[in-house]
Amino acid sequence: MAAEKKSKAELEDLRQRLKDLEDKEKKENKKMADEYASRKIRAVEELKAQLELAQKKLHDFWDEIEENSVTKEKDMFNFKLNISRSLDISRLQRNLEMTKKPDNVPKCDEILMEEIEDYKACLTCPCCNVRKKDVVLTKCFHVFCFDCVKTCYDTHQSKCPKCNAAFDASGFHRIYIG
Ligand SMILES: [Zn+2]
Ligand SMILES: [Zn+2]
Repeated sequence: MAAEKKSKAELEDLRQRLKDLEDKEKKENKKMADEYASRKIRAVEELKAQLELAQKKLHDFWDEIEENSVTKEKDMFNFKLNISRSLDISRLQRNLEMTKKPDNVPKCDEILMEEIEDYKACLTCPCCNVRKKDVVLTKCFHVFCFDCVKTCYDTHQSKCPKCNAAFDASGFHRIYIG
């Protein structure tokens, strides 16, 4: 009887140990699964951070490009303005030099007449060469007289006589020079 009791106890003991081992294994498995999941979460978070950084860099890059193009436009505008100013100044200087010499008085008149013709040409419609410029095409900014633009529009051409840019009924604007 004692031997039976002993072996029963041993069996019970073995069962208990097996159960403990099973529990331990379950716990290990759970721990491993948890670790795997948290590693995965960490990897996803890292990727997310990298993506955000890349997006930010891209954004900055675009901002920089935009800023550059605005600066370049401004530079170009100033450059053109300076050129036209320096042309005007050199013309005035030339005229001034001319007026200093009495022999040149007739020539001065000539130059002045030339200049007046230039300015007149600037203000005259390049299409008919007769009427004053008083309409601007808002797409290409070429300037003509109203009659020429109207003729273009009425004959269904609706294209700028200078550069062929198409325009519609709202594509031109009256301007008032002088
Ligand atoms: Zn005209
Ligand atoms: Zn044009």
